[in-house]
Amino acid sequence: MNSSKSYGTFKDNTSYKAYQSTSAEVKDGYTVQQQLQYRKYLEKLKNEFDERWCEKSKSKMVFSELERVRTLGTGAFGRVVLLKHSKTNKYYAMKILEKEKIIKLKQVEHTLYEKQILEAIRFPFTVSMEFSFKDNSYIYFIMPFVPGGEMFSHLRKMGKFEEPIAKFYASQVVLALEYLHFCELVYRDLKPENILIDKNGYLKITDFGFCKKITGRTWTLCGTPEYLAPELILSKGYGFSVDWWSFGVLLYEMNAGYPPFYANDPMKTYEKIVSGKYRCPSNFNGDLRDLVRNTLQVDISKRFGVMKNGVLDFKNHKWFKGVEWEAILNCRWPPPFTPKFKHPGDTTNFERYDEEPILPSSYCRFESEFIDF
Ligand code: AMP
Repeated sequence: MNSSKSYGTFKDNTSYKAYQSTSAEVKDGYTVQQQLQYRKYLEKLKNEFDERWCEKSKSKMVFSELERVRTLGTGAFGRVVLLKHSKTNKYYAMKILEKEKIIKLKQVEHTLYEKQILEAIRFPFTVSMEFSFKDNSYIYFIMPFVPGGEMFSHLRKMGKFEEPIAKFYASQVVLALEYLHFCELVYRDLKPENILIDKNGYLKITDFGFCKKITGRTWTLCGTPEYLAPELILSKGYGFSVDWWSFGVLLYEMNAGYPPFYANDPMKTYEKIVSGKYRCPSNFNGDLRDLVRNTLQVDISKRFGVMKNGVLDFKNHKWFKGVEWEAILNCRWPPPFTPKFKHPGDTTNFERYDEEPILPSSYCRFESEFIDF
């Protein structure tokens, strides 16, 4: 497949022109030159991110024109429901967060970050916000509906991913984390449940509830036990390295069908993670083992992603041989798997959940705590 001439086809069909590459012929691996040119593109995306970050959002949607269809998923702080716009017939996913729960679970700051981040990010492999609202009891985030369901469901159904599928997904996650980190965002909750598959077979990372803008180190203990990095468990100050560790766990789980560190008791899981000891199943070839070893690396000075070469250590690794990073970014690489769905609002790729009414209070609750929403 030929390297494409434009980067990132976004949902509004805006194509970004590539900076002329002097080494576009390189098929196996990504040269330093290519990476330097890609960084210029990332700088442009970061400037756009920064502009949106400082802007006040302008919601243009009329709430009463949105019909609730059914629940798509639930999280610790609320649920996500499918909506249909009665005039445009477009489908949306709406995350509903209960103010009272957010306060009880001390998540006000995280939720404010989530809103601001969803409004500011624009990348082919992450969801972003279309509109947000609040009422007396709830906060609402409205995003485009991603109909292919969670990577988690497909992984459990298939047992494990065949290598071309795992490689296709892993390359998108590398690009998405590179973008987020470039925008100074640490994601902190990478796992198959938070990765959705879009209609074109490409990924969209969702749930930015633990994502945070950082300039130095941060200390909060958050995430999902099996995916936590050792430095986070050990309450050391940490940075972007935790996302690359989680990427190593994801890489392993996609190829094995189960995570590398697991026990019934989370404390035992943490002990295993901190020891850094895991076993690779026999289907892992030498290149995959090498990549996993360099990513599930307890010593962060030796962990891929945060060393001198940064993301190039991944882009040039033998396991990714043959991956054309620019074709992936432009969604021009043929997806090895495309989810089945019959129409734009088809929810067959999502689990069934009990429905619950949304009943806002007659008076405004926690007004001052949510003044910035
Ligand atoms: P969250 O609370 O953000 O983790 O979302 C909970 C679940 O809702 C996710 O794991 C998905 O199954 C589903 N979900 C979230 N966002 C979307 C979306 N934009 N399109 C479709 N499903 C979504």
